[in-house]
Amino acid sequence: MYNLSTLLEDSARRFPDREAVVLGDTRLTYAQVNGAANQVANLLVSRGIQHGDKVALSCPNLPYFTIVYYGILKAGATVVPLNVLLKGREVAYHLGDSDAKAYFCFEGTADLPMAKEGYAGFGEASGCEHFVVITADPAAPSPIDGTDTLGAAMSGQAPTFDTVATDEDDTAVILYTSGTTGQPKGAELRHRNMRDNALTGEVLFGADADHPDTYLCVLPLFHSFGQTVIQNGAFAYGGTVVMLPRFEAHAALQLMGKEKVTFFAGVPTMYWGLLGALEDVRAAGGVDVEELARNLRVAAAGGAALPVEVHKEFQKRFGVTILEGYGLSETSPVASFSPRGEEVRVGSIGKPIPGVEMKLIEPDWTEVNADGSDPDAVGEIAIRGHNIMKGYYDRPEATAEVIHDGWFRSGDLGRRDEDGWYYIVDRSKDMIIRGGFNVYPREIEEVLLTHPDVSLAAVIGVPHESHGEEIKAVVILNDGATVTPDELVAWGKEQMASYKYPRLVEVVDSLPMTATGKILKRELS
Ligand code: AMP
Repeated sequence: MYNLSTLLEDSARRFPDREAVVLGDTRLTYAQVNGAANQVANLLVSRGIQHGDKVALSCPNLPYFTIVYYGILKAGATVVPLNVLLKGREVAYHLGDSDAKAYFCFEGTADLPMAKEGYAGFGEASGCEHFVVITADPAAPSPIDGTDTLGAAMSGQAPTFDTVATDEDDTAVILYTSGTTGQPKGAELRHRNMRDNALTGEVLFGADADHPDTYLCVLPLFHSFGQTVIQNGAFAYGGTVVMLPRFEAHAALQLMGKEKVTFFAGVPTMYWGLLGALEDVRAAGGVDVEELARNLRVAAAGGAALPVEVHKEFQKRFGVTILEGYGLSETSPVASFSPRGEEVRVGSIGKPIPGVEMKLIEPDWTEVNADGSDPDAVGEIAIRGHNIMKGYYDRPEATAEVIHDGWFRSGDLGRRDEDGWYYIVDRSKDMIIRGGFNVYPREIEEVLLTHPDVSLAAVIGVPHESHGEEIKAVVILNDGATVTPDELVAWGKEQMASYKYPRLVEVVDSLPMTATGKILKRELS
C-alpha cells in the first residue's frame, strides 16, 4: 500500500542520489535520509514501539525532523509533532493527551529543562516511557542525565528496515490545534488524508518528478502547512527541501538566490517580510534578485488572509502571481486553491481542490446560497472530501460538533461568487459586533493597507460600554512615515461606513506572531 510511510522510500528507490534535504552545508540524498529514517524505525522497534503507538516529536526545521518523522511512520506508529515553543507544562499536556509512548525533543527547543520537567512529572504517569534528546552534534552527550541522544541511540541500528504495513485509514499524524475554540485538541489525520494532500502537487502546481522543484521550507514543520505542502509534497515528486530553521526575510531571500529555489510557500506576513527586505538584499549585493525572481516558479500563500496590497506588490516586484490556498490542520491542510489555468482572482482562496467539496452553512448546518445566486451571502465554510480528519483524538463530542454527515465546519466565514470562487470574510470568532452591526476585521485591514504610510494592520474588537465592542486598529507604519493615530482615524472615517471605521488606532513597531507567522490577535488589546 502506498502510504505516507512509503512516500520517502519510494522516492529513495527512484532517485537515490537526488538531494532530498539541505540545511547549510549539510546536503542529504534521498538514500541517506531514507537510511537514517530506517535507523530510527529500528530504534523504535527495539524499544518496543508497535503499530498504532503514538510518538511525539519537538524539533525545528532540521533534517532530524524529517528523519525522525519518517522513522516513526515506518515503524507503523503515529507521529505527534509538537510546537517547538511549548513550555514543560504544555509538553506534559500534549504527551498525556496523545498517549505518547516516546518523545523525541531537540536540545535547542525552547526550555529543554522545562520539557524534561514536564516529561519527568508527567511522562511516566502518562505511559510515555522513552525520552530521546536530539542533539545538533550527534556525538555530544545528552544534556539530561539518564536519557539517550538520538545520535547514540541510532548508531548501531541497521540502515535497512521493512516498513510496518499500515492501512490507509490508520492514523499517520496527530496535529494539535485549538480548532475553533478551547484547549488544544489532536486532529487525527489518516495516511490517506496526508498522502492525497501531498499528491495534489501535480494538479495544483504542476509538480513533476522529472523536473523536480526546490522548495524553501520556512514554514514550521510541526504545522500541517509546512509538513504536508512542503516536506511530504516535495518528497512525493522527488523534490529538494531547503530548510531555514527560523524565518528571517533577508536570510530567506539569500537562500532563495543561492539554492535557486523554484517553490516558495508562506503565510502572508512572510510575503510582507520578503517585500520589505528585497531592496536591502539587492543593495547588499551577492544575490542576483532578477535571477531569483526568474527561478521562482510557484509562490503559494495560505494560513491567513493574503492582503490584496501584498499580492499586487509581490506580483509587481517578483513577477510571480501568488496562488492562494485555504485550509486547516483538520483538512490535511489544503481544501481550496487558485485553480490552474484560470486567471487568479485577487482576494479569493480559489475553488475546492479536486475531490473536495465546499459549501456555506448556517450554525444549524443548513446551506446558505444553495442555488449560488447570491455572491454576497455570508456563511460558515463547510468542507467534505478526502482531506477531512478522522476526528479529534479521544474526543468524540468535540468531533461530533464539527463533523456532520461527512461535512466539516471550519469556523471561517466566507462567500462564493457566481463562478464558484470562494472568499474568506473572516473567522467567525474574530467578527466584531459593534452596536449590533457585524464588522469583519479583515475588510478594515485591507482598507488600512491602502494608506501609503501603513505597512501592516491588525484590527480587533475592544470592550465598549454602549456599543458592546469598539473597533481598534494596531498598525505598523512604513519606514519614515509620520502619520499620527488621529490622522489615521480621520482618514478611515472618510473611507468607511460609520459603524466600521476604527475609532482607536495604535502605532507599534512589531506585532505578536504565532510560530507559523500568523498575527496573534488575542494578544492585542
Ligand atoms: P491551522 O489549523 O493552524 O492551519 O489554521 C487554520 C485557519 O487558518 C483557518 O481556519 C483560517 O481561519 C486560517 N486560514 C487558512 N488559510 C487562509 C486563507 N487563505 N485566508 C484566510 N484565512 C486562512
